[in-house]
Amino acid sequence: MNLEISSNIYLENSILMSGIRESRRSPLNDRQDKKVWKEKLTPEQYEVCRLKGTELLFTGKYWDCKEDGVYHCICCGNELFDSETKFDSGTGWPSFWAPAKIQNLKFALENSHRMRRMEVQCDNCGTHLGHVFNDDPHPTGKRYFVSILRR
Ligand SMILES: [Zn+2]
Repeated sequence: MNLEISSNIYLENSILMSGIRESRRSPLNDRQDKKVWKEKLTPEQYEVCRLKGTELLFTGKYWDCKEDGVYHCICCGNELFDSETKFDSGTGWPSFWAPAKIQNLKFALENSHRMRRMEVQCDNCGTHLGHVFNDDPHPTGKRYFVSILRR
């Protein structure tokens, strides 16, 4: 099983939640994108969210959250997943079998690491969230692998 998934979502009811809120639907060009996100995110968050960094997974800094709530994009606040669809996939990594709102995600076929995988991104801001696999026994047949950073 491949665990090379990283993401950046936060829990709404987290005490650490405080606001990075971009205005919705405001696509940025590459240069603006870099500048804006570098100001708003920690270097670690920037690496994962905007450059699709994966090393974070192996630093032990991800946060496997067990609290109830709605998970949002750390970059723009977009509603992504609900804890009701969170389950233990046996991998030790946060997994969801359905998104909160499918229209808030966008998907991109990714050919890398000698694999074809479906990347999941925030539809609003393009943040890299993780990957989705089609081998889950839940009703949707989908398994969204993401990891969660507490803010
Ligand atoms: Zn977003």
